[in-house]
Amino acid sequence: MGLNKEGLKKNSIGRDLFEFKEGVNLLRVLPPDMKYFMEDIDYIAHRYLTHWGIGPEGAPPVTCARSQDDSNSCPICDKIRVLKRNPAFEKVVNDIYPRSRYLLNVLDVNAPEKGVQWMETGPKIYREILKYALDPEYGDILDLDKGRNFKVTYTPGSKHSSGYNQYDTIPSASESSVRSLLTEGWKTKVAGLFESMRTPPSIEELEELARSIDSPIMDELPPSKPKTQQAPSPQTSPTLQEVQVDALPEGSIKEDAVKVVESKQSPLDQSSQTQSSEKPCFGKQFSLSESTCKACARRGDCMVEFTRAM
Ligand SMILES: [Zn+2]
Repeated sequence: MGLNKEGLKKNSIGRDLFEFKEGVNLLRVLPPDMKYFMEDIDYIAHRYLTHWGIGPEGAPPVTCARSQDDSNSCPICDKIRVLKRNPAFEKVVNDIYPRSRYLLNVLDVNAPEKGVQWMETGPKIYREILKYALDPEYGDILDLDKGRNFKVTYTPGSKHSSGYNQYDTIPSASESSVRSLLTEGWKTKVAGLFESMRTPPSIEELEELARSIDSPIMDELPPSKPKTQQAPSPQTSPTLQEVQVDALPEGSIKEDAVKVVESKQSPLDQSSQTQSSEKPCFGKQFSLSESTCKACARRGDCMVEFTRAM
């Protein structure tokens, strides 16, 4: 019991990670662990999944319980699976969708005294580096003696017309050695990359976070209309069963997001059915203006069920 300060430090947003400086950064990607020096490995980074937009504003992302094993149960992913059935939740689903993060060992070639640093990045930079790692013409980019540096030009979103941070990644034309640039303890740092990953909260904590998703959503929903006005036209409005689970807005999650495995009946569906038998109104009567509904702890699931039944 009590506060695990090491865990807190590791999970806080202020982890000691490599940060790009504006302009040109000269990086060397180093092996993701020491196994590389003993046998062939088939990865250059450690990947994990994060849910953003959960909890209070500015809270760090929540690590998905499926990060290391897709067969694990993640209450937030389960919640997304249910919310995806209703277009009204599109924005929220997009916000909290699990997104890939990649951890790489890097050396700042222009500041080698900083030693090996851990870099956490999204898919764009990772895929750029991966592209060259896979290209036979570029050899083994991780090799300390015959690998290649990468020139990454960083333009902050505030200085780019798109408003988003830009990273332009190109490999050096020639091979080089960085062995003489490595400082004492570099092996320990290389070996520690995997452990630097944010660990997922407990299942109980994830369940609590999943439950908290409802409240802000409910405030954003338009008032529900009487049932008689909502009979959908089969030609123009697909039924909820017909809505594709991956039908999210173009350009919103792209390949960054990870598909949620869709089972025929999610644990949440089963729970809804069980609890609906306890509450006769569950999924049958719902209104944002009803004080009973406002006070109900299951109003989010009820609204989904209610919409589905329309
Ligand atoms: Zn998840």
